[in-house]
Amino acid sequence: MRSPAGAVRIAALVALCASAGCRNLGRVPEHENAVVRGERCLEVRDFDGAKLYFERALQASPRNVRARIGLARTALERGDPQAALAEADRTERECALAQQDRIELLIVRGRACQRLGRPVGLVWAYLHRAYEAGGAETKQRLYKELVRLSGQLPPDAPGLKEFMAAGPPGGAAPWQRIRPRRDWDPAGKSDAGIPMGKPFRITVHHSAHDAFIAGSAARSAAASAEVIRRMHAYHVQNRRWQDIGYHFIIDPRGGIWEGRPLHFQGAHAGAAHNKGNIGICVIGNYDAQGPSTAQVDSLTWLVRRLCAKYDIPSRQIFAHCELKATTCPGRFLKRIVVELRN
Ligand SMILES: [Zn+2]
Repeated sequence: MRSPAGAVRIAALVALCASAGCRNLGRVPEHENAVVRGERCLEVRDFDGAKLYFERALQASPRNVRARIGLARTALERGDPQAALAEADRTERECALAQQDRIELLIVRGRACQRLGRPVGLVWAYLHRAYEAGGAETKQRLYKELVRLSGQLPPDAPGLKEFMAAGPPGGAAPWQRIRPRRDWDPAGKSDAGIPMGKPFRITVHHSAHDAFIAGSAARSAAASAEVIRRMHAYHVQNRRWQDIGYHFIIDPRGGIWEGRPLHFQGAHAGAAHNKGNIGICVIGNYDAQGPSTAQVDSLTWLVRRLCAKYDIPSRQIFAHCELKATTCPGRFLKRIVVELRN
């Protein structure tokens, strides 16, 4: 049985929690509370709750721009892009917009147009404008989405080249930079001899390393560098190639490493297919398991960047097994490559 003292303590605790909650919310006007609650509901995809709170905020303050934009986002997230566009129009007509509000509306419009199947150039125009106008947080939020879109755009789409050349916005993303060759090969240089010319296709491979080696490469950048050095030694000593065969290597943590310099033709797709062909190798065995999100993000970014830089159409992105009878790059990674092409 619970002692009376225990019951008193619990009652006091409940009262304390309740009053703390009141204090937190009591300092701001009621309609702002409703907006905050609506945004919380939206975060957890409680669309009925979000709509209720945003509408309540608008009853108290009909020109509350955050509540209006909240309603537009709620309509979009619950799968009604047409209603989202109507809310965006209404927000622009009825509310005074700050810069961040305009950015949020561009994002709503871009995503709504995408869901309505409107031309990809239009979706890009909205989202890319938001990206350009936005601060670091907005850029982080939109970057991957724009990289994915870029694969469906013609190479001369406005702003595309500059966007891909600039690379990802600041942050801790592993693909923030491509590690130069000296990071795994401090003294060496490439002995490859055949010039690449302008690349016109890309082929993706896996290293087929077992889980033990791939796991060791995942431990640190130094450990990844060691695995790449061993790949290089195998290619040069066993296969009698002039250099590591691939132009880029993606480690298990999504880090991108320069391999054979891009101005030399690679050795990765067979003699008949190496010409003008950029070779990317993802460390691991993707017949056994799927690549990590970090690896997929890095591969997507790298492929899109190379396509934009060299005007490579996405139909020229291949999995090794599409050029030669091999299981490389494994069925799980092949699936990703096919998505990159489409
Ligand atoms: Zn291969």
